[in-house]
Amino acid sequence: MIDRPNSKAVDRKRRLALPETDLPTRDAVERAGDFREVYTDWDLDTARAEAERCIQCPAAPCVKACPLDNDIPYALWLLEHGDVASAASVFRSSSTMPEICGRVCPQSELCEGVCPYTKQGRAPVPIGRLEAFVADRAPRTRPHLPANTGRQAAVVGAGPAGLTVAEILTLRGHSVTVYDAWPAPGGILRYGIPTFKMSHGLVDGLVDWLEGLGVRFVTDTFVGRDCTVEDLFDDGFDTVFLGIGAGIHREASVEGADLTGVHQATPFLVRANVEKDLQPATLRSDTPVGRRVAVVGGGDTAMDCVRTALRLGAEQVTCWYRRTEDEMPGNPRDRRLAGQEGARFRWLAQPIGFRPGKDGRLAFMDCVEMQLGEADSSGRRRPVPVEGSEFEVEVDTVVLALGYMGDEGSVDCIAGLDTAAGHLITIDPETGATSREGLFAGGDAVLGPALVVTAVAQGRKAAEAMHQHMMATRSSAAGSWA
Ligand SMILES: Cc1cc2nc3c(=O)[nH]c(=O)nc-3n(C[C@H](O)[C@H](O)[C@H](O)COP(=O)(O)OP(=O)(O)OC[C@H]3O[C@@H](n4cnc5c(N)ncnc54)[C@H](O)[C@@H]3O)c2cc1C
Repeated sequence: MIDRPNSKAVDRKRRLALPETDLPTRDAVERAGDFREVYTDWDLDTARAEAERCIQCPAAPCVKACPLDNDIPYALWLLEHGDVASAASVFRSSSTMPEICGRVCPQSELCEGVCPYTKQGRAPVPIGRLEAFVADRAPRTRPHLPANTGRQAAVVGAGPAGLTVAEILTLRGHSVTVYDAWPAPGGILRYGIPTFKMSHGLVDGLVDWLEGLGVRFVTDTFVGRDCTVEDLFDDGFDTVFLGIGAGIHREASVEGADLTGVHQATPFLVRANVEKDLQPATLRSDTPVGRRVAVVGGGDTAMDCVRTALRLGAEQVTCWYRRTEDEMPGNPRDRRLAGQEGARFRWLAQPIGFRPGKDGRLAFMDCVEMQLGEADSSGRRRPVPVEGSEFEVEVDTVVLALGYMGDEGSVDCIAGLDTAAGHLITIDPETGATSREGLFAGGDAVLGPALVVTAVAQGRKAAEAMHQHMMATRSSAAGSWA
């Protein structure tokens, strides 16, 4: 592995003058007709040339902007010199899933957003694509596992937070069992994010790797109903991690939301994107989309629903959002891709009811125009209905993507667990420790709807603290036996 560059020896002027290459995407019409990944691959020469554009900023703002502190400049330096395996190992030293983060992180809000090229109004070094490029080519290698510590950890929730905890604790010699309510592990990586953003084969690969390390998965098991957290402690687990996400959708409190033809985002995405045998029995039916689809919401989930509806064959798919594009919370890159694929956008309008046609199915959406008022607590200007501006549109399918919150069914039954608004779990941010001894938590269950990379970051912190907790209890137990 070559050394890091001497910062003074990097010819920044020459690098800044290097040409950039467009991100390689499949043709918009072709890709809107299937569920395969949108981005295609670079060859090694192009990837190396893109890596060479990195000017190796001494202050490394991209590292500071990454929730995992990925050592991006060094990884890109290694790639530039053709050492793909070492570049991948730099990413893998701080991230449990670089091939996934490379694809789904909103890089324009994180590392690429602070790249000096971005500040100059140019295309940033495509850090995400390069991360995925090297990780795809240098799969994980099985490390030498330490002797088993005799301690056991239970992980509830097999999303990115839980899978991260499982990997780190197993590599420290602990036995780990992961419980999940869905039929297969992956959390939103499988039961949310569509395959055109990220092949689910990557989730299978991650799960296979963890099973190979000895992680045990128990699926179709809802902790809080099929068993409890107390049962897990009683069964001998020394510590438990709650990585249960925030998967309860926010309801639309408007008339007609229960009509046939009105869908919630998660079941809609699961039916369309997850293999039938990995879907829960209750969702194993096709999602028929009609000709005119309205997706309500402005985040990543809404854009995934829009693009899924296009791929299911809808003729006209419109994203309805009550503010303007400037306030939209989702990844702008996905919005751009959706636009290329044929999505329409209707800003400053909000549905206020759904009505059936003669057959009893959804046929009309009643809406009202909105305008932006004063800023609310989120800092964004509050959307206010424009009086007398009601209008109707014909639709035959509506998908509601209005956001998510924590699940009271999972958390309220845990004695001594402090929670915050929205049934989110309160933790010590440095350790992931909850108010209940031995119980840790992280990811969306704590943050509310956030990102894959923040779930991994919180899982990493909690795993370290869980390791310390288990080793401390072991030494005190050993002391008392002596
Ligand atoms: C449609 C959609 C698209 C998204 N797109 C992106 C994106 O492009 N980029 C990005 O960075 N982020 C994206 N996100 C957000 C990201 O997926 C989440 O922030 C991340 O998955 C959170 O990870 P987690 O491990 O905390 O929880 P999750 O991934 O939600 O996993 C939680 C797991 O816990 C299980 N569980 C819950 N309760 C129980 C219980 N009581 N017993 C047993 N198991 C339980 C669930 O079944 C689930 O498998 C998206 C989210 C959605 C919904």
